[in-house]
Amino acid sequence: MSTFRADLHCHSTCSDGTLTPAEIVDHASTLGLSGLSITDHDTIAAYPQVLDYAQTKGIQMVPGVEFSTYHKGESVHVLGYSFRLNDPSILELSNRHTERRMNRNLEILKLLAKHDMPIQPEEINHQDHTIGRPHIAQAMIDHGYVESIQEAFQKFIGDGKCCHTRGSPISTEETIDIIHRGGGLAIIAHPHLIKSRSIVDALLNLKFDGIECHYARFLPKDEKPWIKIATKKSWLKTGGSDFHGTVKPANPLGCSWVEEDTFNLLLKHYQSHYGSAE
Ligand code: AMP
Ligand code: ZN
Ligand code: FE
Ligand code: FE
Repeated sequence: MSTFRADLHCHSTCSDGTLTPAEIVDHASTLGLSGLSITDHDTIAAYPQVLDYAQTKGIQMVPGVEFSTYHKGESVHVLGYSFRLNDPSILELSNRHTERRMNRNLEILKLLAKHDMPIQPEEINHQDHTIGRPHIAQAMIDHGYVESIQEAFQKFIGDGKCCHTRGSPISTEETIDIIHRGGGLAIIAHPHLIKSRSIVDALLNLKFDGIECHYARFLPKDEKPWIKIATKKSWLKTGGSDFHGTVKPANPLGCSWVEEDTFNLLLKHYQSHYGSAE
């Protein structure tokens, strides 16, 4: 039996993970993983440096990203893989997200201040990183407003809670188009976390290339419906842990993965941009 395992979904300190890209590669190497994609929220800042480092550690990597999108008013995460790293469309989309997040985060801070939990913008602004609600949650803990990240989300900043606002959304359809323009493949991330089945059904009519079928803590019965959909549509069946480090201890790196054939499809797609595919 093949021992090849590739984790295609994890987050570094370039977004809301706690390990740097190089530390993730080291961790993957220690765990005996063969392949990896770091999929930070709305940024590809980990690349290209991490590709060179991974090579020195014998880990094969394909570029990845997880874009925050909205479809019919619902939050939908879209994974992009194997795009050209110097593509202006992907970089422009990432810059738009930085701006969107900056405004959205300020609105959330205003709502928190209204609820007697003031936090200064400087406390959450780290240069070159995607700033998200987990950073706001950490600042809330530092101030003693809440005891845990979970509590911050459950009581205040989770979707639909009193201090949450989504800011100006970027659509799922536009995101798929931009990933394709960048030469990449667009995948529905963690479909089981999408709020309603009708949104999933609507997404199945969009121009995706795959769906995440393997995920942290999935049993075979949890994977089954997504595998069935992917097979029917001849889509890629991707998977990964959604590792974030210590902020999400229930998702250890390598706890969910794809085999060599799926990873090789992504790798060859990436290499084809540079004329080195077989
Ligand atoms: P943002 O992209 O800034 O809207 O923040 C969303 C991110 O926050 C997600 O991608 C998760 O990493 C994290 N998150 C969402 N809900 C929770 C929760 N209930 N507990 C902890 N982290 C969460
Ligand atoms: Zn995250
Ligand atoms: Fe996600
Ligand atoms: Fe994720």
